[in-house]
Amino acid sequence: MKYKTASLYIDTLLDFLYPRNIYCIVCKKGIKKTQKYSLCKSCYEKIKFIDLCACEKCGKPLEKLYLPTKCPDCLKTEHIFTKAFSCVVYDDNMKQLVHRLKYGKERYIAYHMAEIMVDKLKKEGLSEIDFVIPVPLHKRKERERGFNQAYLLAKYIGKAMDWNADRKNLVKIKETLSQNQLSKDERKKNLKNVFSVVSKDIYKGKTILMVDDVYTTGNTIDACSKEILKASPKNIFVISFATGKNT
Ligand SMILES: [Zn+2]
Ligand SMILES: [Zn+2]
Repeated sequence: MKYKTASLYIDTLLDFLYPRNIYCIVCKKGIKKTQKYSLCKSCYEKIKFIDLCACEKCGKPLEKLYLPTKCPDCLKTEHIFTKAFSCVVYDDNMKQLVHRLKYGKERYIAYHMAEIMVDKLKKEGLSEIDFVIPVPLHKRKERERGFNQAYLLAKYIGKAMDWNADRKNLVKIKETLSQNQLSKDERKKNLKNVFSVVSKDIYKGKTILMVDDVYTTGNTIDACSKEILKASPKNIFVISFATGKNT
């Protein structure tokens, strides 16, 4: 069986097999079926959901009563996407959750993260999206990991909102070093010419929603946006599950 077919097959099978809302996805305690996002009450209450006090460009949380309405990073750097949203603050609990999804291969977590993301999109009134696009992984990395977590999120969001999840048209054509260990300048250089849009025609005049698990500096999203903008879309919105504070 080809890798892609196998991977799609596994996704469908896991969707079918995994019992939802039985255990808390953070602490793994048993929960009532009615608990939101498959979280127990105590773990739910610990999550710092990002509300209206957020940067109007990148969606990072801001201190209450903070003025201006952009975060320090967005006051200095111009991001080229239209607007980004994030759902929760990337604290230790959320870091572990994302880690378990990406490296522990607990794929079912993506389903519940996507539920949180869908509610955020609804709250922000994002209703007309033509393409939901995950930040792509390089082919080799995706093969190594077995899946792209951003695609799982995009897939579930697309399903819930009846939007088209598009994993094939934006591709990562070069392997890169991990952004974490690089300086600010190196990070930008590291992402130069690594993404590419296969067919530009289909994005023309369309509204795009980019999806990622964590928004950090926005460098990756900017690098993707740069390529997508060559195809003249109408807007590029961004949704990530978590983001750090930027003060
Ligand atoms: Zn819990
Ligand atoms: Zn910002």
